[in-house]
Amino acid sequence: MDEKKTVLIVEDEKSIVDIVRFNLEKEGYAVLTAYDGEAGLAAARQKKPDLILLDVMLPKMIGFDVCKLLREEGDNVPVIILTAREEEADKVLGLEIGADDYITKPFSMRELMARVKANIRRTAMQQAQENTAAVPAAGGLTIDPENYQVSKHGKPIALTQREYELLTFLAGHPGKVYSRIDLMEQVWNYDYVGDDVRTVDVTVRRLREKIEDDPANPALILTRRGVGYYFAGQ
Ligand code: CA
Repeated sequence: MDEKKTVLIVEDEKSIVDIVRFNLEKEGYAVLTAYDGEAGLAAARQKKPDLILLDVMLPKMIGFDVCKLLREEGDNVPVIILTAREEEADKVLGLEIGADDYITKPFSMRELMARVKANIRRTAMQQAQENTAAVPAAGGLTIDPENYQVSKHGKPIALTQREYELLTFLAGHPGKVYSRIDLMEQVWNYDYVGDDVRTVDVTVRRLREKIEDDPANPALILTRRGVGYYFAGQ
């Protein structure tokens, strides 16, 4: 690793912060911590971490609002939401407001470290570069892989890292249908896929809202019913 990657932990349970910090440092990451939502937001703005682990139930400002504000400011830092097991709805809500991923408490350190690794920018950017080699322009869409910038009819579109990767992956293989499990493996870098395929659906929906002229009748990212998703292209 050329340069240490920085992970910001925003979590009010000190015991969780301590053990996650210990494990991240052991893996070679630099770690920042914040114990409430406002402090987390401030740290994200000032220190520009490479990834944020974000608890939902936080003092002063809930995790969803922290994530939402960062996205509104155009900050595309990878965000993993830490959610409690009973809060099923939180998973989808977290993804809809722009988080990249979620992990359910209580989580194993092994699983958390795998998620951090899969979501961190270094891996993602390398992958994005590989995938953008043959990206076509279609439907007024242009992809500039050097600047990770996507435009629609000349207007820049703010995509999260995952949205960008999903788009460039599909656009790099126009016409080829990928199942949600394929996409979890190829775009999310996950080896194990459980119930998490819903992550793909939510990300596709968010992406369509940003790049399609009519998100309800998509012309770029299409659904092959019962099979998966594909990019229309040429
Ligand atoms: Ca909490």
